[in-house]
Amino acid sequence: MADPDRPIAWANFLAGVWGRRFPVDVRTIALEYSTRYPDPIKTVRPADIESFEGALCPLPKSGKWAILYNPAIASPGRINFTLAHELGHYLCHRGRSPGGFECGEADMLGLAGNEPLRLIEQEADAFASYLLMPIDDYREQVGRNVMSLDLLNHSADRYGVSRTAAAIKWLDFTPECAALVVATNGFVLWGWRSRNAKRRRIFYDKGMALPPASVAAQPARMLGEAGVLHPPGVWHPRSEVREMAIFADNYEMTISLLLFGDEDWRVGLEES
Ligand SMILES: [Zn+2]
Repeated sequence: MADPDRPIAWANFLAGVWGRRFPVDVRTIALEYSTRYPDPIKTVRPADIESFEGALCPLPKSGKWAILYNPAIASPGRINFTLAHELGHYLCHRGRSPGGFECGEADMLGLAGNEPLRLIEQEADAFASYLLMPIDDYREQVGRNVMSLDLLNHSADRYGVSRTAAAIKWLDFTPECAALVVATNGFVLWGWRSRNAKRRRIFYDKGMALPPASVAAQPARMLGEAGVLHPPGVWHPRSEVREMAIFADNYEMTISLLLFGDEDWRVGLEES
């Protein structure tokens, strides 16, 4: 059989071979599956380098490859995602970059400098996402439940990924109207939306100011487990929004998951 030619096709193929055992053991797949090539992955190991989270490095003598990761990365979920991202580079991109890849968090968040590089990084992320979190299985886990921090924690644990990665994946298949907003010092860094949110033209672009009444604008408040239900006029002019704080750190970086209610068209009618 010919190799799959696209990152998501690769991920679906390997996820099928691996079967429904979670979290997916990326290290084993990388070491075992790559033996069918003349330039396999010889090692997956931590490297004491601060400048990147993960790397795919050619080994000069043997012509084989190494996947390296930064062990200082806080959560094991992030490491697992990083390993899968580098495996994606190996399978899909190694022919294009004989010098390998060094990937920082900015690359993985789609903030890399130039467009061709950004596309390659997005492909490696898509590969990681589909390999670690097959949509069919994720859909079954969610069932008819409303997304909550408990459910997000369950998914992150099941797939061995960060809550953020689990939330982004959920946004890709949910019929709900929802969005993820990453912000720092009161301003949006980037956002991710469900299909329904795109249809409703809800967006949070880089540089937008956070609503002052939002939880994200007050990182010290980002501890409430159930989330906060905001009235219309905070995150959206005509919808209630449930805001769940899925991440906050000392650097004032916040990640909020927003669930939008139906729009109430009566709001604001009397003012206009
Ligand atoms: Zn990368």
